[in-house]
Amino acid sequence: MKRFIESYDGQPFDLIVVGGGITGACVAYDAAGRGLKVALLEKKDFGWATSAATSKLIHGGLRYLANLEIGLVRESLRERRILENIAPNFVYPLPFLVPTYEGRKSNKWLIETGMILYDILSFDKGKTWDKAKKIPGHQSLSREEALREEPNLREEGLTGAAVYYDCQSICPERLTLAFVKSAEKSGAQVANRAEVTGFLHGKDCDSCFHGLPDRAPTMCLSS
Ligand SMILES: Cc1cc2nc3c(=O)[nH]c(=O)nc-3n(C[C@H](O)[C@H](O)[C@H](O)COP(=O)(O)OP(=O)(O)OC[C@H]3O[C@@H](n4cnc5c(N)ncnc54)[C@H](O)[C@@H]3O)c2cc1C
Repeated sequence: MKRFIESYDGQPFDLIVVGGGITGACVAYDAAGRGLKVALLEKKDFGWATSAATSKLIHGGLRYLANLEIGLVRESLRERRILENIAPNFVYPLPFLVPTYEGRKSNKWLIETGMILYDILSFDKGKTWDKAKKIPGHQSLSREEALREEPNLREEGLTGAAVYYDCQSICPERLTLAFVKSAEKSGAQVANRAEVTGFLHGKDCDSCFHGLPDRAPTMCLSS
C-alpha cells in the first residue's frame, strides 16, 4: 500500500474521508467502488483507535430488540451476513448461551420471544457464500440441558437457556486494514500519519488540499 501524500499531484477529489477507523475505511471502500475519487487520511495508523478496542463482535444487535429498534436490528443482521461473505477470514459465527431465570427480567418466555424475533429478522442468515458460515436458528434448552452445557451456571431459579449465534471478529484492526486496502484497490488514495489540521475556504485555496511530506495536509472546503 502506497501513501499518496508524498507524491500528491494536486488532483481534486470528490470525497475526502477524515479518519481511518472502520467507519472511514468502509466509507472510502464504498465510495471508491462507486467510482468516486476518494482520499482517506488517518492521523496515526489505520484502525488504531476505537476500531481496535471493540468487544470483537459483529453482532446483529439482539439487545436493541428490547427498545423495539427493529429496523436497526435488521440492518445489523444484514451487514453481519455481508461481512461473513466479503471478509470470511475475519468474521466467524460464535455461539452464545443465555440462561433464563424465574422473575421478570430474564424470564424464559421473554427471552424466547426475543430469540424468535431475532431469527425472523435474520431470515437470510443461511444464505452465506461459504456453507461453513451458515448461522442456525436459536435453540431452547431445558434446565437440565443448560446445566449439562454449562455446569457453572447459578442453579437457584434457573429455568433453562437459549443458544443463539452472532459473529466474532478477533482482529478488528486487521478487518479495518483490509477495507483500506480494498478501497485503495478500487482507486482510493490513502495515507496514514496524515492529520487533517484545518479547512481552507473559497479563495484561500486553489486546490482541494495541500499535502506536504513533512507537514500535515490542510484540507479545503470549497464554498
Ligand atoms: C468498549 C467498546 C466495545 C465495542 N464493541 C463493539 C463490537 O463488539 N462490535 C461492533 O461492531 N462495535 C463495537 N463497538 C463500537 C465500534 O468500536 C465503533 O463503532 C467503531 O470502532 C467506530 O469506528 P470509527 O472509525 O468511527 O472510529 P475510530 O476507530 O475511533 O476511528 C476514528 C479515526 O479518526 C482518526 N482521526 C481523528 N481525527 C483525525 C484528524 N484530524 N485527521 C486524521 N485522522 C483523524 C483517528 O486517529 C481514528 O483512527 C465498541 C465500542 C467500544 C467503545
